[in-house]
Amino acid sequence: MDFDPTSHPHRRFNPLLNEYILVSPHRAKRPWLGQTETIQATNLPEYDPECYLCPGNARMGGQKNPVYEKTYTFENDFAAVLPTAPPAPIASHPLLTSKPVHGGCDVILFHPRHDLTLSRLGLKEIEHIVEEWIAIYKKRSQQEGIEYVQIFENKGAMMGCSNPHPHCQVWSQSDVPTLPATELASLARYAQSDIAPSGAPKGPGGKPCMLCEYAHIEMQNAETDGRVVVRNEHWVAVVPWWATWPFEILLLPFKRHIPAISDLSEEEKAAFAEILSQVTIRYDNLFSCMFAYSMGIHQRPTLSGDDIAHLHLHFAPPLLRSATVRKFLVGYELMAEAQRDLTPEQAAARLRGLDGVHFMEPTSSCVQTPMLFAVCSILAAVLQPAFGYFVVNSPALHDVWVNGETHQVSWTKGARDGITSFDIEMSRLGSSGLTFVAKNVPSADSSQRSINILLQDVPPGDDYFLLFLNSTHGLMHATSQRFSVLAAGSSGGNMSSATNPKAATVTVSGPPHPTQAFATTFAIAANAARRTEPALPVIGTSFVVLGCVLSVAWTLVW
Ligand SMILES: [Zn+2]
Ligand SMILES: [Zn+2]
Ligand SMILES: [Zn+2]
Repeated sequence: MDFDPTSHPHRRFNPLLNEYILVSPHRAKRPWLGQTETIQATNLPEYDPECYLCPGNARMGGQKNPVYEKTYTFENDFAAVLPTAPPAPIASHPLLTSKPVHGGCDVILFHPRHDLTLSRLGLKEIEHIVEEWIAIYKKRSQQEGIEYVQIFENKGAMMGCSNPHPHCQVWSQSDVPTLPATELASLARYAQSDIAPSGAPKGPGGKPCMLCEYAHIEMQNAETDGRVVVRNEHWVAVVPWWATWPFEILLLPFKRHIPAISDLSEEEKAAFAEILSQVTIRYDNLFSCMFAYSMGIHQRPTLSGDDIAHLHLHFAPPLLRSATVRKFLVGYELMAEAQRDLTPEQAAARLRGLDGVHFMEPTSSCVQTPMLFAVCSILAAVLQPAFGYFVVNSPALHDVWVNGETHQVSWTKGARDGITSFDIEMSRLGSSGLTFVAKNVPSADSSQRSINILLQDVPPGDDYFLLFLNSTHGLMHATSQRFSVLAAGSSGGNMSSATNPKAATVTVSGPPHPTQAFATTFAIAANAARRTEPALPVIGTSFVVLGCVLSVAWTLVW
């Protein structure tokens, strides 16, 4: 049996934190029965009189924000660490030790506009933020007793951030905290290792640098088949080999060893702003929402710290399958080790394939006036259902399939949704395991709406369901309702629809088997890629353009 990272469970090593993560790619296909989140509003006002971060408004501590025009930094009114701390009491037992910590907390407001996040700011505006990060890093790290400066952004209510006004925090303190301390120790160990020389840049003293080396390896992977999401002249964003969060990103400079943001050249800063924009735009575009995440900058702890550090940013976003389904780190992850379903390569492919223009940005002149926008939106909304839907008609809820008999699987889908074939898998709610039923089921022709399945020796159960998906890219189109399977010869089989004698029949045998090949693989039709009808965007856009023309005429007449 050959190892396939997209279907065989395996553990991956995270060399930064010196820990493993369990990857269980076969589980990505199970249906979601857990909690769903509310979608965060995208129609925020430019100025919110109730927001304590908007220009001119009073903060909770009573002070008033100036009418700032770019960025604005102030000391957190409710700081987690304070400028002075009394010595810790002598421990009554070695198991009950503590140490004092002191420092300061700052808040950096990215922009006066209440409704704009990093993803929607211009490159010049992001460059102002980078300059502000550098300024605060320099200022805080020169203060007496400060040994570490942590810049981080918590974005979205899902991450516990109650105020959508674009901002980040900076906590500066008298100790290097646990995670960066672990990473710095890993980098120091790596510098002492004798790895084979590569073309990667070197760290201080000509010693190997783990992150120079890692970025170098990732850059060598073709961008169509690796973990690189986006790159530019100086920076690369990857879903790291060891990612814990579904769409986690590691962003780092790859051309030379750069310990901290204060070491960036003007050109590297501009490239930094550009890639920050690209990463955050792709995040928002992934599920067409204001994508929540926690972002942190890891670098040399302070200006005078050890150059072993290699500047990098972590983005830890919780969303998993849609704007409303998030990942929780619970159970096995809290008690054993981190675990993920989607492979980092699949996540990178999804992010890489997204548009670099924000979904809320106007892409045509249609959205320049409210009237035209309204007409275009209505047309787009009316047209949407005609193209993008996928409904499973049978098996229906509580259908009963019997071993030794043939049953119909049927669906209805948009004819111009761009899905010319898909795969069908069978799974169970109560136990893990997948049966690969059929690959490349043709669906370009709207008359092909069913296949028949003959069951043989499939274990009886009342918790079966079918998945309709693109298994190569992990894209789910639809799932069927739950149905039952009975032993051969049982009576009581009931079906919501009879079999279709003209449709192909696939034989499915035995229990679920996650490593077996598909029972049937259909040949890809020669004309599948060459659509005879215009694709969805063409038709949709044509109607929208037509709508705009009509509404221009309408506006002129009035
Ligand atoms: Zn605000
Ligand atoms: Zn390096
Ligand atoms: Zn790090």
